[in-house]
Amino acid sequence: MVYQARHYLDYNASAPLLDCARESMIEALNATGNASSVHFEGRDARKTIEKARASFASLVDFKASNIIFTSGATEAANHVLSPDLRAGGHELKVSKLYIGATEHACILQGGRFAKENIEILPTDKNGILDVEHLEKVLENHDAEQGHPMVAVQMANNETGVIQPVKKIAEVIHKHEGFLTVDAVQALGKIDLSIEETGADFLIFSSHKIGGPQGVGAIVLRDASLSPVPLLVGGGQESYHRGGTENVAAIAGFGAACEWHESNLTKNIKIFELRDSIEDQLDTISREIGNHVARPVFFGKGQSRLGNTSCFAVAGVKSETALMALDLDGISVSSGSACSSGKVKKSHVLEAMGASQEEMEGAVRLSLGWEEDKLGAERFLAAWKTIVSRVAA
Ligand code: PLP
Repeated sequence: MVYQARHYLDYNASAPLLDCARESMIEALNATGNASSVHFEGRDARKTIEKARASFASLVDFKASNIIFTSGATEAANHVLSPDLRAGGHELKVSKLYIGATEHACILQGGRFAKENIEILPTDKNGILDVEHLEKVLENHDAEQGHPMVAVQMANNETGVIQPVKKIAEVIHKHEGFLTVDAVQALGKIDLSIEETGADFLIFSSHKIGGPQGVGAIVLRDASLSPVPLLVGGGQESYHRGGTENVAAIAGFGAACEWHESNLTKNIKIFELRDSIEDQLDTISREIGNHVARPVFFGKGQSRLGNTSCFAVAGVKSETALMALDLDGISVSSGSACSSGKVKKSHVLEAMGASQEEMEGAVRLSLGWEEDKLGAERFLAAWKTIVSRVAA
């Protein structure tokens, strides 16, 4: 059997661990100490955590004191989606959660809100939240029951489409609501400033930027406004999140943040390779001619993450394509995969009004920050074989 180099084009699922993250994790793993202890080892662990917090704060251009480390974005989502908030010394009630239809599953579940207090908000054909509809919904919100909360992502994991978060925040704040933003996919891919988003709470994940899996963060725009803690115990993370900190994972996350801060300009340019791949996918269909459809690119023409392309060619099933690509050493994703690894219908594409055939054929390519031109070439060659088979 001939083994060929693999090309990993699935960064939105999880990015490979950066060398700098691995090194700082090993260093932290080799150290002893609980960050809450007052002795030398404890202070050393605390220093490691605070260094990582400062690195993350610098990448998102915000105050380190407003960052809470968690075990990942899913925990962060369950933390911030809370009907009970604290504002200064007071309790604040949030009576209803409004969620964009294209949100990630960890948001769509609604966190700590009862199902009857959750409403899904429609998006347009590009996956952009319908702001006029949001305005109407908030006008009809019963403020006597409590405040509204809206959860919208910065960028979609399947299509890369970027939401007009600032505009959405203005509408929500006009109605005395709170905005939670899932910024998981935006980190390290766009120039992100917390202040600019206008969000009240934001969630992040380390493994999408080349940090380790199992660590993430919450950012509170205003430290005096916070959700009631999800995990209670010791007073870690300024009493926001109990439990001994995962020092090594946090160190790895911090190192990845530092790397991205120095490489962001280069990362953003990855859209040039993505656009060229999309052009060539179209050329492949055109050259094969009438026997095969032209690709549909979801969210094309919108503001999108530069590394992401989600497309479908009628007649090509994503499950078949993914397997053929995998055999050729190329890892991509379908529009959406469930935890069992099976391809299932994408709720994102469904919300965008995609047809059944488009949903069954959706393939997601998510490039890394290093321009893998060879990976792109091999992907396109393998894709040509797949569509030629369909056309035959
Ligand atoms: N939000 C988005 C947009 C994601 O893509 C993901 C990961 O797939 C998550 C949240 C969940 O992150 P984590 O794996 O850290 O729980």
